Amino acid sequence: MILHDQHIHSKYSHDSTEEISNYLEIAKKRGCLYFVTTEHYDLDAVSFFCDLIADFTSLQKELKSYQKQYPTIKMLLGIELGYKKDRIKDLEQVLNSYDFDVINLSIHDGNNVDFYIYDTFLKKGEVTLLNEYFDLIIEATTNFTHYNVLSHIDYGFKTVYLVNNKIKISAFEEKIKQIFTNIIKHGKTLEINTKVQEAINDDNHLRYILNLYYQMGGRKLTLSSDAHKSERYASRFEHYQKIIKACGFNYLVYFVKQKEYKYFI
Ligand SMILES: [Zn+2]
Ligand SMILES: [Zn+2]
Repeated sequence: MILHDQHIHSKYSHDSTEEISNYLEIAKKRGCLYFVTTEHYDLDAVSFFCDLIADFTSLQKELKSYQKQYPTIKMLLGIELGYKKDRIKDLEQVLNSYDFDVINLSIHDGNNVDFYIYDTFLKKGEVTLLNEYFDLIIEATTNFTHYNVLSHIDYGFKTVYLVNNKIKISAFEEKIKQIFTNIIKHGKTLEINTKVQEAINDDNHLRYILNLYYQMGGRKLTLSSDAHKSERYASRFEHYQKIIKACGFNYLVYFVKQKEYKYFI
């Protein structure tokens, strides 16, 4: 079996214009048995002053319309859920309104800060704000369990690293350990996000995360591109899968109806 990508965005997300059909052509060429997009559901998005909500009803309809054209690919429904502590009820509502196959949990912003924007780190101080960023992930993974995969743990770190590559994620080891403790305890899966890895472009950064997770007993991983354009579908999976394997992992995880399956590597 060929592993499908479990974190991609199409025109149903605010930050992509890609057609589902373009992704499907690539998924078919690769020989994927499943296809899923994980559109954004980000409430109170700090930089946008609004909720960024995908239309999952229309997406579902479109996916269904392709099923005959792509009989060998099973269409799944996914979501990238932005954690917001004071909107838990609304998060639960969308999760209960659709039959999602996979739920990726993300922290893009919080405490009135957008972790994608370096200027905010300058104002508060890089280390101070990165501590806040990791504290938010600790809070999310402590209090919230209605998800399958923790997405891009190093998303906020990447923003700083791209400006100041002297900073190492190992400086936040105690906080990362708390996050790993939470996700392992709750049976969740850690995502390796190739978009973040490609940006950081230091395989030792990834090895550090993988080794720490493994030492703590973490075994469940997804490998995902976070593509917003079809060209990046499953981007550099072969390269990162080799590193994952070399760190001792012998399988990746995929989800159907939120039930996890092993893909041996
Ligand atoms: Zn994200
Ligand atoms: Zn994403």
